[in-house]
Amino acid sequence: MKKTLKFWILTLITFTMIAILSSSFFSSYLVTKKSLIEKSLEQNEMYALKLAQMSEEVFGTMQANLEARKTDVMEYINDPEELTNILNQLLISSKNFNSLSVIGNDGVAIATSPNVGITGNKIDSPGVVEALRLKENFISKPYKAVTGRLLILVSTPLYDDSHTYLGMLNGTIYLQEDNFIHNILAKHFSEDGSYVFVVDEEGTLIYHPDKKRIGEDVSKNKVIQHLLNGQSGSKEIYNTQGAHFLAGYSYISESQWGIVSQTPFEISLQPLSGIMTKMFFYTLPFVILFYVLAYLLSEKLAAPLRKLAISTMNTNGKDVSIENLNISTWFFEAKQLTDTIENYRKLQEEEVANFKLQSFTDPLTGLKNRRYSELVFSDLLEQKCSFSIINIDIDHFKKVNDVYGHQVGDETLQFLAHKLLSGVSEQDVCVRLGGEEFVIILPNCLIDDAYLLAEKLRKEIEANILPLNRKITISAGVGEYKANKETVSELLNRVDEALYVAKSEGRNRTVISP
Ligand code: GH3
Ligand code: MG
Ligand code: MG
Repeated sequence: MKKTLKFWILTLITFTMIAILSSSFFSSYLVTKKSLIEKSLEQNEMYALKLAQMSEEVFGTMQANLEARKTDVMEYINDPEELTNILNQLLISSKNFNSLSVIGNDGVAIATSPNVGITGNKIDSPGVVEALRLKENFISKPYKAVTGRLLILVSTPLYDDSHTYLGMLNGTIYLQEDNFIHNILAKHFSEDGSYVFVVDEEGTLIYHPDKKRIGEDVSKNKVIQHLLNGQSGSKEIYNTQGAHFLAGYSYISESQWGIVSQTPFEISLQPLSGIMTKMFFYTLPFVILFYVLAYLLSEKLAAPLRKLAISTMNTNGKDVSIENLNISTWFFEAKQLTDTIENYRKLQEEEVANFKLQSFTDPLTGLKNRRYSELVFSDLLEQKCSFSIINIDIDHFKKVNDVYGHQVGDETLQFLAHKLLSGVSEQDVCVRLGGEEFVIILPNCLIDDAYLLAEKLRKEIEANILPLNRKITISAGVGEYKANKETVSELLNRVDEALYVAKSEGRNRTVISP
């Protein structure tokens, strides 16, 4: 069997739902993903900026700490013991340095704190050489010191009152050991894989949570290239090791370093699945509600047409009124179809009835015909109903035709039919058997009553003046059906014989069949 309208409506609704839901889920997915990426980039950028500002402050404080002790240092420049005391105090109070030293203008270390065993030695490490050359406030690039440590030198020059350069006061930061950068930045190193790293002006790692990588050149990294150009911002990147990150970066103008804060891409998108799941569960009740409504609507839409279809299927063309099927025609197509089918059915019914009537009617007189009389007889036999018949024949009818013509003959037949009809009661059936022979079937009528009726009709015909201004007479035979003793055709023959007797006895009379 073909699929139903309801099936197709539900299929359409299902496809539409799938299309709408998947497109809305997909667009929500994209929008949420984009906003999570943007949020992570922004957070990292803000964080890098904050760290850069803190670092700048710390550098400022470091320089200030050194400068604050310059006078004391210069006072005891020739007293290494006192100088060491001053450096010890400064190391404890400033907290930002890993070591402090005073180096003379000849590059010889005068005092250090803590004692790293270089006092009295000429120091020719790159930071010291550069600071001596510049003779001004200076933060070095990372370099390997004589002690073998990777460090950064923060130095301030020592000038006496007559502006003679005496040397410098230095603080160092050991990059691969605990230091202030670590104190500030390591907090950011979290378990989700986010971390911060710092590069110097040449793209060398100064700080990285993985200490082994400190000193590594990462200048090829796109973010680092931006930083080396003095730019700050945020970017989605693949690092030098191929890992995918969302990075914020900020340039520190004081030291010309760059700080990068970055979160692994997958970690930033972790909330996405939760958001999508939530969205799914928020949508679910609406989807279910919509489906229930859609189901009910499809039922309501399809029901009238289905009833119509099933009704035509079951009745197989039989007489079943659509009005009895209670079809709710609440929309145009259903109403139109139902009305059309019902109208068509009624029309057909009328036509069939019409045809039936025609097939049982004599066209000239409007009386019932022989075919109909057969039905009446079989009905009466079936109901075991007693009945009588009157057989009628016009006397000398041939003459009417001969004298006045066939047309007048027809009118005479019509006149007679009219007289018969108006003379009998409702249950009686007047039949034109053919020609000018008639039979009247009288249910529940005894022979005497049949005779009286035949006589009444005969006299009335006789008394009437026809349209052709002359009289006609009729002869009649009557008989009562003898149940279980004869057939209807035997009865008809019998009554025909009585009629024949009436004719032979002079016409215009009624004879009872014995
Ligand atoms: P009888 O008294 O013996 O019955 O004489 P009759 O002239 O009536 O004789 P019969 O019954 O033999 O004649 C019947 C005539 O009825 C013959 C025919 O011309 C005429 N007739 C039969 N059917 C029709 C008809 O439909 N229209 C007309 N105008 N005449 C018909
Ligand atoms: Mg006749
Ligand atoms: Mg006749």
